[in-house]
Amino acid sequence: MSSAIPIWGPPGIPIANSDQTFPVRRIYTIGRNYADHAAETGLGGTSGSVPGISLKPADSLLTDGGILPYPAATRHLDPEIEMVVAIGRDGEDLAPEDALEHVYGYAVGFDMIRRDIMHDCIANEHSWDLCKSFAGASPVGLLHPVAEVGHPHTGEIALEVNGELRQQGDIGQLIWKTADIIAKLSSYAPVRAGDIVFTGTPKGPKAVEPGDRLAGQISGIGTLHISIK
Ligand code: MN
Repeated sequence: MSSAIPIWGPPGIPIANSDQTFPVRRIYTIGRNYADHAAETGLGGTSGSVPGISLKPADSLLTDGGILPYPAATRHLDPEIEMVVAIGRDGEDLAPEDALEHVYGYAVGFDMIRRDIMHDCIANEHSWDLCKSFAGASPVGLLHPVAEVGHPHTGEIALEVNGELRQQGDIGQLIWKTADIIAKLSSYAPVRAGDIVFTGTPKGPKAVEPGDRLAGQISGIGTLHISIK
């Protein structure tokens, strides 16, 4: 059987110190996973048994150094700096103590959100998908394999916009830790090689505008730079 339309390749994250890329299958995001950000949303913390899980389309990936066109239908575009975990091996119903064996590596990401659409969706009890689904909604920096960076459990996470500090925290503050997140995701559906997970943001996301330059950093992992057009 042949394809009726041209077949596209999966988007890829360049791997640090390598000429390889990491093909992206699915993008998960975990919400309200830092207590200080959960408090400022007014939505409360992620509950004890189930984290807030959303999906973004894989083709919303934007690689390091990319330019994000200001998206349609919004007047409030927020970047959320987050640690990104890349899954390198399939797994189902994983125990937390086995989950880290399925991690390929780590990167810095910006979970870009049309915040005004998010609030409209909440007010109307609609799903949030549209607020996180647009071209360039998922910038991710160079991917750093576990062989290079290990499994970072602490480290400063910070976002600067035009050289001004906007968000600052530590990945040690994650409520759902990397292993817990992967185990939980794998209880709903098998995790697959190529899946990536945005693990949540600390307090302080603030709207960006065309012309802004965003610089993210996580100690022990790496950096991410994009600009808004
Ligand atoms: Mn987020």
